Amino acid sequence: MSDSPYDNARETMVREQIAARGVANPAVVAALRFVPRHLFVPQAERDRAYVDAPVPIGHGQTISQPYIVALMTELVRPQSSDRVLEVGTGSGYQAAVLAQLVSHVYTIELEETLGRRAEEVLRELRNDNVTVRIGDGYAGWSEHAPFDIIIVTAAPEQVPQPLLHQLKPGGRLIVPVGPRFSVQQLQLIEKDAAGDLTTRNVSAVMFVPLRRPQ
Ligand code: SAH
Repeated sequence: MSDSPYDNARETMVREQIAARGVANPAVVAALRFVPRHLFVPQAERDRAYVDAPVPIGHGQTISQPYIVALMTELVRPQSSDRVLEVGTGSGYQAAVLAQLVSHVYTIELEETLGRRAEEVLRELRNDNVTVRIGDGYAGWSEHAPFDIIIVTAAPEQVPQPLLHQLKPGGRLIVPVGPRFSVQQLQLIEKDAAGDLTTRNVSAVMFVPLRRPQ
């Protein structure tokens, strides 16, 4: 297995797209090196699994660019005891990366076909610490709140209030905020022990919109 073309492509991805651009947290880099990204990409797109770009996963959605996954994962400073909420399961790849680093990942996907497929891939890879739910991520997941980390992988125009509410004191929320199909700001929002929020704009990004259910 270790000398498969996918493994080589993944090594190159980590070296040229992740490490070279400054992602330095060793556990995060190791997770990116470990998770077989090609298994989260549809068959027809598999040759492009390790390119430096988002890749279509069907239903008008994409798996995020590897560097963006690494950057967001590093910025939320995952700890092994953390409980994480992800909004926008998509392919399941970001959840699989987080699953290597934290105690549990709760992930919500609006599009049932995508969510079920992600769940299956995650199960095949024995990611037992990921729970997928089909639903609307705007509301968060109150049954499992509060979360140490919330990671939103589709862009709302404003940060959904329930997500701020479901963040633990000391918690980190990362979310691309801005207009649909335009440039958004990747924001890192931290809640301190007193419950006060600080927001830092990290970089300009382009994500698919966080949609309202029909
Ligand atoms: N994290 C994903 C990338 C997801 S793309 C990965 O690693 O592959 C964003 C996803 O958010 C899409 O699958 C889209 O269907 C989903 N989405 C959009 N609006 C949503 C909402 N309100 N609630 C939950 N998921 C939503």
